[in-house]
Amino acid sequence: MNFQDRDQNHLWHPYTQHKTAAAAIAIVRGKGALLWDENGKEYIDAIASWWVNPFGHSNTIIADAIYKQLTTLEHVLFGGFTHVPAILLAEKLLKMLPSNQNKVFFSDNGSTAVEVAIKVALQYFYNKNEKRTTIIAFENAFHGDTFAAMAASGISFYTQAFQGMFIDVVRIPVPVKGQEQESFAALENVIKNHKCAAFIFEPLVQGAAGMVMYGAESLDKLIEICKENNVITIADEVMTGFGKTGKNFACDYIQNQPDIFCLSKALTGGTIPMAITTFTQSIFDEFYSDDINKALFHGHTFTANPTGCAAALASLDLLATEEMQENIVRVNKKHLAFQKHIEHHSKVKTTRVLGVIFALEIKTESNESYYGNLRNKLYNFFIENGIILRPVGNIVYILTPYVITDNQLDKVYKTIENALAIA
Ligand SMILES: *Cc1c(COP(=O)(O)O)cnc(C)c1O
Repeated sequence: MNFQDRDQNHLWHPYTQHKTAAAAIAIVRGKGALLWDENGKEYIDAIASWWVNPFGHSNTIIADAIYKQLTTLEHVLFGGFTHVPAILLAEKLLKMLPSNQNKVFFSDNGSTAVEVAIKVALQYFYNKNEKRTTIIAFENAFHGDTFAAMAASGISFYTQAFQGMFIDVVRIPVPVKGQEQESFAALENVIKNHKCAAFIFEPLVQGAAGMVMYGAESLDKLIEICKENNVITIADEVMTGFGKTGKNFACDYIQNQPDIFCLSKALTGGTIPMAITTFTQSIFDEFYSDDINKALFHGHTFTANPTGCAAALASLDLLATEEMQENIVRVNKKHLAFQKHIEHHSKVKTTRVLGVIFALEIKTESNESYYGNLRNKLYNFFIENGIILRPVGNIVYILTPYVITDNQLDKVYKTIENALAIA
């Protein structure tokens, strides 16, 4: 029996209806932007394995850093103890983030990074004896699959079985072009009518919604409204962080500084699951007290795993290299050229590009659902052609490792163009 068949005996995959889904493809090896399955078939990983892998698969620089850490100190509990990689990583990361960020809290994945951010925002006001329990979030947001993160998420596909069991979240429209004033007004209205603790957002790009993009000035305005009303602002940079938008962080495009940052995905270069939530000093100070009950009673067993920290340190070094910064610019330029080439195609409704992110919306008769027929047809077409792309409804997006070669990228573009013919 091959691995593909053996998988079906015991494995339960994410976001998968096992009765109707095709068997999972067994990948046995990866290098750069390429993956190979058990039959030797080659795939271009055009979505960086769910947006985690900027520097290529099986990157030996990160692998060496991990090996060195594993054979020095693989793990130690983070309650009552600390270690060098965590300290170095916190120092390095805070130098990259906006100057108001000063405290670093570790967890394991994007959802927990968000969970920590929301719990801190709620407890911040609890500690102050101020009743504020509403979280503001965008329509069609995605912040993860744990309960608070799910509550903040607006894509019903992921949350509909759990409606009525959530913390209090009020949604506002995304300030996409032409809808800015509506979004500002909605935020002001929500703040006026609810006891709001925090506003959580994916800055500039809503990944899971299909790379929906909005302007930096609009985000600045929304944060300004929150600041005027002492509403905590949470930038969920789990997807956008570490170069995806062309800058280290999407929030590098704005003037106002959010109070909290959520980071994961590319943090360790796609090697070890790890997440970080960072905070301003003034948020931390509200937990700093002689009263034990004011402490943050949240933690995970593998908090600040030294091996993950070592991988993150190596990744941040790689990101800062001239070679990687040039790769980001190169991929962006190629996306812009492809956009120009494809935007007037009869099947194309809109296109958008930011940094290494490209998205194309296909014209359809009806509203295509998230995992609908068109989506499945496109997905299968890409897989047959050796390209890993996961369209969202009628939206096809590219978010490759930065190290993808020009030839590989051209093959991705060509295959998308061919796919339009069957759409
Ligand atoms: C993927 C994602 C998450 C959740 O991260 P996980 O590691 O899958 O838990 C949260 N927020 C955003 C913006 C994401 O893209």
